[in-house]
Amino acid sequence: MNRFVLILILTLSILLAACMHSSQPSIIHQTDWGGTPAAVDSVQSIEYITIHHSGVVFESGKDPLTYLQNLQNWSRAEKQWVDIPYHYLIDRDGKVYEGRDARLSGDTNTSYDVQGHLIICVLGNYEEQTLNENQFNALIQLTAAIAKQYGVAPDRIRSHHDWVPEETVCPGRDIQRIFEDGSFVRVVSALLDQPSAN
Ligand SMILES: [Zn+2]
Repeated sequence: MNRFVLILILTLSILLAACMHSSQPSIIHQTDWGGTPAAVDSVQSIEYITIHHSGVVFESGKDPLTYLQNLQNWSRAEKQWVDIPYHYLIDRDGKVYEGRDARLSGDTNTSYDVQGHLIICVLGNYEEQTLNENQFNALIQLTAAIAKQYGVAPDRIRSHHDWVPEETVCPGRDIQRIFEDGSFVRVVSALLDQPSAN
Protein backbone atom coordinates (compact mmCIF):
# COMPACT_ATOMS: atom_id res chain seq x y z
CA MET A 1 0.00 0.00 0.00
CA ASN A 2 1.46 3.38 -0.83
CA ARG A 3 2.24 5.86 1.87
CA PHE A 4 -0.37 8.43 0.85
CA VAL A 5 -3.24 5.91 0.96
CA LEU A 6 -2.06 4.65 4.33
CA ILE A 7 -1.98 8.18 5.79
CA LEU A 8 -5.42 8.90 4.32
CA ILE A 9 -6.89 5.74 5.88
CA LEU A 10 -5.33 6.52 9.26
CA THR A 11 -6.63 10.10 9.20
CA LEU A 12 -10.14 8.95 8.27
CA SER A 13 -10.22 6.34 11.03
CA ILE A 14 -9.13 8.87 13.66
CA LEU A 15 -11.83 11.31 12.48
CA LEU A 16 -14.44 8.56 12.49
CA ALA A 17 -13.48 7.49 16.04
CA ALA A 18 -13.66 11.11 17.25
CA CYS A 19 -17.13 11.53 15.68
CA MET A 20 -18.43 8.29 17.20
CA HIS A 21 -17.21 9.23 20.66
CA SER A 22 -18.52 12.78 20.57
CA SER A 23 -22.03 11.94 19.36
CA GLN A 24 -24.89 12.25 21.80
CA PRO A 25 -26.55 8.98 22.78
CA SER A 26 -30.15 8.66 21.61
CA ILE A 27 -32.43 7.94 24.55
CA ILE A 28 -35.55 5.76 24.45
CA HIS A 29 -38.09 7.55 26.59
CA GLN A 30 -40.20 5.87 29.24
CA THR A 31 -43.46 5.97 27.27
CA ASP A 32 -41.68 4.45 24.24
CA TRP A 33 -40.65 1.28 26.12
CA GLY A 34 -44.10 0.84 27.67
CA GLY A 35 -43.40 2.47 31.03
CA THR A 36 -45.42 5.05 32.92
CA PRO A 37 -43.89 8.16 34.53
CA ALA A 38 -43.89 8.81 38.28
CA ALA A 39 -45.33 12.02 39.71
CA VAL A 40 -42.53 14.48 40.51
CA ASP A 41 -43.02 15.75 44.07
CA SER A 42 -39.46 16.93 44.80
CA VAL A 43 -36.50 18.07 42.74
CA GLN A 44 -32.94 16.94 43.42
CA SER A 45 -29.92 18.90 42.34
CA ILE A 46 -27.46 16.57 40.60
CA GLU A 47 -23.90 16.54 41.95
CA TYR A 48 -22.72 12.98 41.24
CA ILE A 49 -22.99 10.32 38.54
CA THR A 50 -22.97 6.76 39.87
CA ILE A 51 -22.67 3.58 37.79
CA HIS A 52 -24.37 0.28 38.64
CA HIS A 53 -25.10 -3.05 37.00
CA SER A 54 -28.45 -4.82 37.37
CA GLY A 55 -26.64 -7.83 38.89
CA VAL A 56 -28.55 -10.47 36.93
CA VAL A 57 -27.02 -12.06 33.81
CA PHE A 58 -28.81 -10.61 30.77
CA GLU A 59 -28.95 -13.38 28.17
CA SER A 60 -28.79 -12.51 24.48
CA GLY A 61 -32.25 -12.64 22.93
CA LYS A 62 -33.96 -11.48 26.13
CA ASP A 63 -36.36 -8.59 25.38
CA PRO A 64 -35.19 -5.42 27.18
CA LEU A 65 -38.63 -3.76 26.88
CA THR A 66 -40.38 -6.57 28.75
CA TYR A 67 -37.54 -6.55 31.30
CA LEU A 68 -37.99 -2.79 31.90
CA GLN A 69 -41.77 -3.08 32.22
CA ASN A 70 -41.35 -5.91 34.76
CA LEU A 71 -38.67 -3.96 36.66
CA GLN A 72 -40.96 -0.93 36.89
CA ASN A 73 -43.87 -3.04 38.14
CA TRP A 74 -41.64 -4.85 40.67
CA SER A 75 -40.11 -1.58 41.93
CA ARG A 76 -43.55 -0.14 42.64
CA ALA A 77 -45.40 -3.24 43.84
CA GLU A 78 -42.69 -5.04 45.83
CA LYS A 79 -40.30 -2.28 46.90
CA GLN A 80 -42.87 0.54 47.22
CA TRP A 81 -40.50 2.81 45.26
CA VAL A 82 -41.94 5.55 43.03
CA ASP A 83 -40.23 4.06 39.96
CA ILE A 84 -37.29 2.02 38.68
CA PRO A 85 -34.39 2.90 41.03
CA TYR A 86 -32.09 4.00 38.15
CA HIS A 87 -32.36 7.13 35.97
CA TYR A 88 -30.89 5.57 32.83
CA LEU A 89 -30.36 1.97 31.75
CA ILE A 90 -28.14 0.55 29.00
CA ASP A 91 -28.94 -2.80 27.39
CA ARG A 92 -26.56 -5.37 25.84
CA ASP A 93 -26.80 -3.60 22.43
CA GLY A 94 -25.79 -0.27 23.96
CA LYS A 95 -29.30 1.21 23.67
CA VAL A 96 -30.08 3.78 26.36
CA TYR A 97 -33.45 3.83 28.14
CA GLU A 98 -34.87 6.53 30.39
CA GLY A 99 -35.80 5.20 33.83
CA ARG A 100 -36.80 7.31 36.82
CA ASP A 101 -37.21 11.04 36.18
CA ALA A 102 -33.80 12.62 36.89
CA ARG A 103 -35.48 15.25 39.07
CA LEU A 104 -36.33 12.51 41.60
CA SER A 105 -33.55 10.94 43.68
CA GLY A 106 -32.95 7.22 43.11
CA ASP A 107 -33.26 4.21 45.42
CA THR A 108 -30.78 1.60 46.63
CA ASN A 109 -30.58 -1.49 48.84
CA THR A 110 -27.25 -0.28 50.27
CA SER A 111 -26.39 2.49 52.73
CA TYR A 112 -25.05 5.35 50.58
CA ASP A 113 -27.16 8.50 50.37
CA VAL A 114 -28.61 8.60 46.83
CA GLN A 115 -29.71 12.23 47.09
CA GLY A 116 -27.95 14.23 44.34
CA HIS A 117 -26.84 11.14 42.40
CA LEU A 118 -27.74 10.58 38.78
CA ILE A 119 -27.77 6.79 38.55
CA ILE A 120 -26.92 4.78 35.42
CA CYS A 121 -27.43 1.01 35.32
CA VAL A 122 -25.87 -1.36 32.78
CA LEU A 123 -28.14 -4.39 32.35
CA GLY A 124 -26.31 -7.64 33.12
CA ASN A 125 -23.95 -9.08 35.75
CA TYR A 126 -20.39 -7.87 35.16
CA GLU A 127 -18.93 -10.24 37.71
CA GLU A 128 -19.75 -12.83 35.02
CA GLN A 129 -20.33 -10.92 31.77
CA THR A 130 -18.09 -8.59 29.76
CA LEU A 131 -18.95 -4.98 28.98
CA ASN A 132 -19.01 -4.98 25.16
CA GLU A 133 -17.90 -2.16 22.88
CA ASN A 134 -21.43 -0.85 22.14
CA GLN A 135 -22.16 -0.70 25.86
CA PHE A 136 -18.84 0.99 26.65
CA ASN A 137 -19.46 3.64 23.96
CA ALA A 138 -23.02 4.25 25.19
CA LEU A 139 -21.84 4.48 28.80
CA ILE A 140 -19.10 7.05 28.12
CA GLN A 141 -21.31 9.14 25.81
CA LEU A 142 -24.24 9.14 28.25
CA THR A 143 -22.01 9.92 31.24
CA ALA A 144 -20.31 12.78 29.38
CA ALA A 145 -23.66 14.19 28.19
CA ILE A 146 -25.06 14.13 31.74
CA ALA A 147 -21.86 15.55 33.26
CA LYS A 148 -22.06 18.40 30.78
CA GLN A 149 -25.79 18.98 31.29
CA TYR A 150 -25.56 19.18 35.10
CA GLY A 151 -21.97 20.43 35.48
CA VAL A 152 -20.75 17.29 37.28
CA ALA A 153 -16.95 17.33 37.75
CA PRO A 154 -15.08 14.15 36.67
CA ASP A 155 -14.01 13.38 40.27
CA ARG A 156 -17.71 13.00 41.12
CA ILE A 157 -18.21 10.19 38.62
CA ARG A 158 -17.91 6.90 40.53
CA SER A 159 -19.15 3.33 40.72
CA HIS A 160 -21.59 1.99 43.31
CA HIS A 161 -18.72 -0.07 44.82
CA ASP A 162 -16.64 3.12 45.21
CA TRP A 163 -19.30 4.47 47.62
CA VAL A 164 -19.90 1.32 49.69
CA PRO A 165 -17.01 -1.11 49.06
CA GLU A 166 -17.92 -3.40 51.99
CA GLU A 167 -21.52 -3.76 50.89
CA THR A 168 -21.47 -4.44 47.14
CA VAL A 169 -19.36 -5.57 44.19
CA CYS A 170 -21.76 -3.62 41.89
CA PRO A 171 -21.13 -2.76 39.00
CA GLY A 172 -19.13 -6.00 38.80
CA ARG A 173 -15.47 -6.63 38.16
CA ASP A 174 -15.48 -5.94 34.40
CA ILE A 175 -16.85 -2.41 34.94
CA GLN A 176 -15.10 -1.78 38.27
CA ARG A 177 -11.69 -2.37 36.66
CA ILE A 178 -12.15 0.71 34.40
CA PHE A 179 -12.88 2.78 37.52
CA GLU A 180 -9.88 1.37 39.36
CA ASP A 181 -7.40 1.98 36.54
CA GLY A 182 -8.91 5.46 35.97
CA SER A 183 -9.59 4.84 32.27
CA PHE A 184 -13.36 5.41 32.42
CA VAL A 185 -13.14 8.86 33.98
CA ARG A 186 -10.20 9.71 31.71
CA VAL A 187 -12.17 8.95 28.53
CA VAL A 188 -15.24 10.84 29.81
CA SER A 189 -13.00 13.83 30.72
CA ALA A 190 -11.52 13.78 27.21
CA LEU A 191 -15.06 13.92 25.74
CA LEU A 192 -15.92 16.84 28.03
CA ASP A 193 -12.81 18.68 26.86
CA GLN A 194 -13.77 18.35 23.18
CA PRO A 195 -15.39 21.39 21.57
CA SER A 196 -19.12 20.71 21.25
CA ALA A 197 -20.01 18.92 18.02
CA ASN A 198 -23.59 20.14 18.15
ZN1 LIG B 1 -25.40 -0.93 42.33
